Amino acid sequence: MSWIDIRSDTVTKPTNEMRKAMYEAEVGDDVYGDDPTVNRLENLAAEMVGKEAALFVPSGTFGNQLALLTHTKRGDEVIVPDSNHIFAHEVGASAVIASVQLRTLEAPEGMPSIEKLKASIRDKDIHYPDTGLICMENAHSSGRVIPLQYLKSVKELAREFSIPVHLDGARIFNAAVALGIKAKEIADTADSVMFCLSKGLAAPVGSILAGSSAFIEKARKGRKLMGGGMRQAGVLAAAGIVALEKMVDRLEEDHENARFLAEMLSEIPGLHIMEDQLDINMVFFKLEYPDPALVVSEMEKAGIKINPPEGDLYRLVTNKDVTKADIQKIAETFKRIVSDNI
Ligand SMILES: *Cc1c(COP(=O)(O)O)cnc(C)c1O
Repeated sequence: MSWIDIRSDTVTKPTNEMRKAMYEAEVGDDVYGDDPTVNRLENLAAEMVGKEAALFVPSGTFGNQLALLTHTKRGDEVIVPDSNHIFAHEVGASAVIASVQLRTLEAPEGMPSIEKLKASIRDKDIHYPDTGLICMENAHSSGRVIPLQYLKSVKELAREFSIPVHLDGARIFNAAVALGIKAKEIADTADSVMFCLSKGLAAPVGSILAGSSAFIEKARKGRKLMGGGMRQAGVLAAAGIVALEKMVDRLEEDHENARFLAEMLSEIPGLHIMEDQLDINMVFFKLEYPDPALVVSEMEKAGIKINPPEGDLYRLVTNKDVTKADIQKIAETFKRIVSDNI
């Protein structure tokens, strides 16, 4: 059975071009710095986000946590909106790896006010931890894109207090496409940026951490400490290069498909689209239907994989393996489930 999978954009399969590049990749031992394909990916990645250097890491979580480890010292406080991945979805790693404490700010859209951010920066006092880092996320996992102006204000505030900023840009290219700007303009508002090759860009594995040369040199050692020193990683990096060269511009198609899906779904009685969370490739909605587990299993019977709702919120994610025809089928299947009142 060929599935329609809209649980996430992490489910994307590598393209034929990626598989060919992986097969043909020139490799070496990257811990010795000998893998030419990894080196090429890291140079390309750094250039695309306008940073001096970049590091290939196994996952987005790895890249974010490595950024925390590299920017901070044990016992520091890291300011992060409470809806951000680093706090919400990284298994409490910041306590284990960087041994920092997170100062979370309530902000469902990932944009606490600048005043609130400023008030959460610690004064110098023998009782207080040092504020070691501020974390932002763009695109935000709520499906929203954070405006550039807001990130610039965060950068300005952070500069005033000499605190670095890390950007979780797992979907930075989705944000850039949605804003109609270059990813490096977004990355310029942060000292370090992490982005994923393995989401909408469809590489099988891997993320990038980018920043200044000194930062990346330190992070390279931290990556080894975390067990992320990979050897002939060029077979993976080769797919990452194709992801960056060929898969960025087509993200607009995923966004368009998400809007199309939202439009079709909005015709279903009792289904409420979250219109203000529709900036990228995600569609969030509420559905007046008593049994979410049944919705999931009925969709599955029709060959469509969806996640159960988080709370009362469903999230569908378009990606390169989902066509317009698939979207029509998804909407029709939802409609049938709701109207049959199965
Ligand atoms: C997916 C994601 C990550 C983590 O990536 P993994 O590769 O799944 O560890 C980090 N931040 C955000 C915003 C994400 O969406």
